[in-house]
Amino acid sequence: MLKGNITKSGGSRPEGHYQPPGEIFDNLPVAIYTCDHVGYITSYNQAAVKLWGRAPQIGRDLWCGSWKIFSIDGTPISLDDCPMARTLKTGIAIAGEEIIVQRPDGQQVPVRVFPTPVFDGKGIMTGASNTLIDLTEQKSSDGEKTRWASIIESSEVAIVSKTLDGIITSWNKAAEHLFGYMAEEIIGKPVLLLFPEDRLEEEVEILGKICNGEKVEHYETYRLTKTGVEIPVSLTISPIHDARGRVIGASKIVLDISKQKTYEEKLQRYTENLEIRNTIGKVISESLDIEAILQQVTDVTTQVTGAAFGAFFYNKLDEHGESYMLFTLSGAPREAFEQFGMPRNTAVFHPTFSGDEIVRMDDITKDPRYGKNHPHYGVPKGHLPVVSYLAVPVISKSGAVIGGLFYGHPEPAKFTLEHENLVAAVAIQAGIALDNAKLYEEVQKLNSKKDEFIGLASHELKTPVTSLTGYLQIISRRLSEGDVNKPFIDRAIHQVRKLSGLISDLLDVSKIETGQLPLSPTAFDLKFLVQEVIELQQYGTKSHRIVFQSDLDVLMVTADRQRLEQVIINLLSNAIKYSPVADQVNVSLSKIQGKAVLSVQDFGMGIAAEQLEHVFSRFYRVEDMAAHISGLGIGLFISREIINRHQGRLWVESQQEKGSVFHFEIPLGLPV
Ligand code: ADP
Repeated sequence: MLKGNITKSGGSRPEGHYQPPGEIFDNLPVAIYTCDHVGYITSYNQAAVKLWGRAPQIGRDLWCGSWKIFSIDGTPISLDDCPMARTLKTGIAIAGEEIIVQRPDGQQVPVRVFPTPVFDGKGIMTGASNTLIDLTEQKSSDGEKTRWASIIESSEVAIVSKTLDGIITSWNKAAEHLFGYMAEEIIGKPVLLLFPEDRLEEEVEILGKICNGEKVEHYETYRLTKTGVEIPVSLTISPIHDARGRVIGASKIVLDISKQKTYEEKLQRYTENLEIRNTIGKVISESLDIEAILQQVTDVTTQVTGAAFGAFFYNKLDEHGESYMLFTLSGAPREAFEQFGMPRNTAVFHPTFSGDEIVRMDDITKDPRYGKNHPHYGVPKGHLPVVSYLAVPVISKSGAVIGGLFYGHPEPAKFTLEHENLVAAVAIQAGIALDNAKLYEEVQKLNSKKDEFIGLASHELKTPVTSLTGYLQIISRRLSEGDVNKPFIDRAIHQVRKLSGLISDLLDVSKIETGQLPLSPTAFDLKFLVQEVIELQQYGTKSHRIVFQSDLDVLMVTADRQRLEQVIINLLSNAIKYSPVADQVNVSLSKIQGKAVLSVQDFGMGIAAEQLEHVFSRFYRVEDMAAHISGLGIGLFISREIINRHQGRLWVESQQEKGSVFHFEIPLGLPV
């Protein structure tokens, strides 16, 4: 086909014009041209024009349509030494030499050339044809492949591939590093070599997905290294397709997630530890009950250390001076200990009860201090077996060793440094909580002693003061009206009455503390009672005018009349006492939503907001303002208790320097 289109030049410069090659020749997708035996181009097709980037001049251009050619390594080749020239000189065909031709615009095109001599019937070489195959695409796809291969090889991530039968077909450097197998020893071997025994079925599952053309992403699992170590990995597995789109294998990206796993585990443990410390810290610092604190500490620490049992022993020897006192126990019945003697003053326990150090042993039976003492020489027979051992002293702020926390486990190496640190932290918190609980216990004891004293003293004082009042009244009655001594006796009576009131109040406090303040309810008119009390108070005070306001005619209530009188007197006398520069006190009584409401308002010194609730506490007095006004700080305490006992409430609204309003409300009928 080609031959027929070649223009014969007969060795000289062809005279004729370019003869268009046949259509087939012209439309061939490969570049073809011919030269005469001297080398002048005699014909070429369109593909050749495209490749050269120019159309050569027939009969003028020699050997090649491109002016510049290079060998594949980039060295220029002179045109008269180009493959076509060589074929024409030697008469020998060149089968596929690679050269680079340069287009007029400078672009270089790699080509493979096939110059072939053409002979006439007599065997004389009349010229040559040349076929040029453009290698651009092939070169770039080769380059791509090489680039990918080198990326995969140098990747820090392990990348492997396998066939659908699970045979490893490629293995990069990172895979060598991760698994310990060299490429040459693992390629061709089954991928199952890398699977831990209990995970073999994963391969079936993964292959199933791959065969369906699915990708498996971030599959977290474990794989085996050459030395048999299991490592946590994250796998991303993708199907490999052939040119026709069929799945022929799988590529695997293997990420070593050991560090991530360790970090995650560490973080988790750290968070858990923190949570435990916080919870236990909160629980034990809120409690003032020594037993509850120690039980909580023992329970939680036994649980988190995974101990078979945990116990707290007080640093107190028993009456024989031998065994330490077992206080709380977790994870084992008390009999398990009590049957077999307690920790004794031996070398093993010494560091704990002396507060010297924490003892943590993977195997206490191997410790030289162990098993030296009569009669058991170690853990007594039948006792809970102890191999792993942890003992942490609990120390008070004063430095005294309160006791020790002990943990045991029948297997070795159960307690870690982390357990030790956790228990040590809890032991510090426990030490503080126990100190506080002890202080609280002592304060409680002192308090109840004080209450006892107040009860006793007021009781003892009451009798002589009552008889004193009686005698003074007799003397007063015996004196005639004009007697010079009468005013003194009357003043004495007034003072003794005041004293008697104070003693009654103290007695009331003591009754409240012991829960013995009885109420005797009767039905009466509260309005009448209020008016009576006001009258009495007004009689005794000249400095203030007590103004009473009420829209009610009567207000019948069922309550303890005497106790309510006590409350009203207290509120009124306080209002007068704590408003020394004012001259009026307002009292109002009303019925609101089925309740009797009484308010006493003064225009005195008032009470600071932060003191408002304290004024109802026992023995509480506002320091600065009330300092020069006498009182015991129990009137409001008793009043609130009385009102509370009536199922009502007593409260105050106040503004400093403006005055206070004390209110109480009680149900009309005291519920029985
Ligand atoms: P006492 O008056 O004997 O101190 P109370 O229990 O009656 O005891 O009152 C407790 C404290 O409340 C008083 O010391 C005083 O500081 C404050 N207080 C009570 N009533 C008033 C009031 N009307 N105005 C200002 N402060 C008051």
